[in-house]
Amino acid sequence: MIARRPEDGGERLRGIGVSPGVAVGRALVLEGAKVDAVRIDVDPSLTSREIARFQRAVRSAWRQIRRLRDQVRAEAGDACARVFQAQIFVLKDRALLKETVGLIRRERVNAEWAFHSVVGRHAEAFAQLEDADLRERGTDIEDVEIRVQSILTGSRRRHDLADLADDVIVVSAALAPSDVASLNRAHVIGLATDGGGPTSHAAIIASALGVPAVAGLREATARLRTGDLVVLDGADGLVVRNPSDAEMGRWAERRMRLAQRALDLARLRDEPAMTQDGVRIALLANIELPEEMQAARRHGAEGVGLYRSEFLYLRSAPELPDEEQHYQAYRDLAEKALPHEVVIRTLDLGGEKCLGSIMGRREASPVLGLRGIRLGLRRPDLFRVQLRAILRAAVHGKVRIMFPMVSGLSEVRQAIAILDGLRDDLRREGIPCAQEVPVGVMIEVPGAALIADRLAREVDFFSIGTNDLIQYALAVDRGTESVSYLYEPLHPAILDLLRRVADAAHRLGRRLSVCGEMAGDPVSAVALIGLGITELSMSPAAIPAIKQVIRGVTVRAARSMIDEALRLDTGAAIEDLIRRRLLSLLPAEYACPI
Ligand code: PEP
Ligand code: MG
Repeated sequence: MIARRPEDGGERLRGIGVSPGVAVGRALVLEGAKVDAVRIDVDPSLTSREIARFQRAVRSAWRQIRRLRDQVRAEAGDACARVFQAQIFVLKDRALLKETVGLIRRERVNAEWAFHSVVGRHAEAFAQLEDADLRERGTDIEDVEIRVQSILTGSRRRHDLADLADDVIVVSAALAPSDVASLNRAHVIGLATDGGGPTSHAAIIASALGVPAVAGLREATARLRTGDLVVLDGADGLVVRNPSDAEMGRWAERRMRLAQRALDLARLRDEPAMTQDGVRIALLANIELPEEMQAARRHGAEGVGLYRSEFLYLRSAPELPDEEQHYQAYRDLAEKALPHEVVIRTLDLGGEKCLGSIMGRREASPVLGLRGIRLGLRRPDLFRVQLRAILRAAVHGKVRIMFPMVSGLSEVRQAIAILDGLRDDLRREGIPCAQEVPVGVMIEVPGAALIADRLAREVDFFSIGTNDLIQYALAVDRGTESVSYLYEPLHPAILDLLRRVADAAHRLGRRLSVCGEMAGDPVSAVALIGLGITELSMSPAAIPAIKQVIRGVTVRAARSMIDEALRLDTGAAIEDLIRRRLLSLLPAEYACPI
């Protein structure tokens, strides 16, 4: 989206902020990365040589990617390095290699063309997938192709970002993970792309490396020219082309504030999240893969409040993880989290996290279909494997089990009965397993929130999944842009549901946390504290800013904000009230993080 504000003098492009920070510099607009392979017929006597040439190129690409992986691992940790592990898997993919060799032999064509055709077919299959994360994996294949092709043709990569001499903001249609990882960080001060989104690998790496980035700009490569002066705001998802002098002054101030804020936040790492009136709030991490424990610890997480185990399935697709793979992943997680706890959520496939090999035929309304605990109970073969592994892994740390998408008591009772049966089986088999593993449910279906008092009698703890709770309570698909304006975390109906759940948990003495995105938003977090919730789980990077807000408020003030908010009529009015109150208590950038 493009808008011009005359007072700024600059053209503004709106996208999605995927890596925070402000960069000011000259644009370097990159040409497309498309591979144009030409078909050349190869003399039948030379096909073996062509195949050998292809295999040499693959081995050489493999060595390059391994080097990149090790470099990224040293600089940005395991979570980022796994992007390159994924690319190594692509290069080891027998189907991809066998098909290419077969094509060279059968059609007697050059390696470039054969590999390009095979990659094209595979990339297209990924593009058809419903799951955004899996679709994203298609870019790994394309990135691998560019590398192999440049080795085959002996050309340099399209833009050697390692060789830049001046500071630039790189503007491109899309960036491959290896482009981001190998860029010269002394000179690339920002990234702007037409496509991509917060879950893209390139975004993950940019964020871990601290390079401000905006994705999803749609027209950045069309509107910007190499040499344009550009301001890029990676938190706000904004790119301004040729800003006026007056605006440049404002951006300079904002950069100074940001730098100061980063320093303040870093200092808080080992401080407790304690309110001004002495109430300790536990801040935990939401993670998808065990490797993310490193980032969780770096940001000061006190354990894992939500481990989304379905990513184990998505990662090993189309194969299903076996009990041993589950066990190793959970054990690793439990051990790394010590002395803290880990809440392992059982598989929550379904909805937007579809996996054809498990779910079978596509449903008409997957968000309302066979997902979460429903799928677990329908497929005891999968569910039992996972639960056995969790019970075994729990011997090695402090593990809790959590069931997702619960809508009624019978689901919980069935799941607990299966769990008890499995514990007996393991005992009979002489396999070490934990005897006491706390069991909880996610409260993310409005019906479950309304019967929270009944559910509380069956389980040890609740974790409120506000992402889905809001979606279902307000009938707003959480991934549909056209209705996103209705997705209001502080809508009075949501606060009412949250209050019921909190009251039920407190009455029955059950532990309660929130693990939806609300927990990582400063204004919403204060509302949650006002409702009596003292455990918040969020993406690791959000923890320092939330801690800062908590340390600046009192529970008394948060409660009085909520009392007043509950008398208001709209989500917008409630948000405005809490934000204004926060602004009166805290510096502006605490309440409206930049
Ligand atoms: C939620 O629904 O709030 C939640 C944390 O789960 P997910 O985002 O994985 O659906
Ligand atoms: Mg959910």
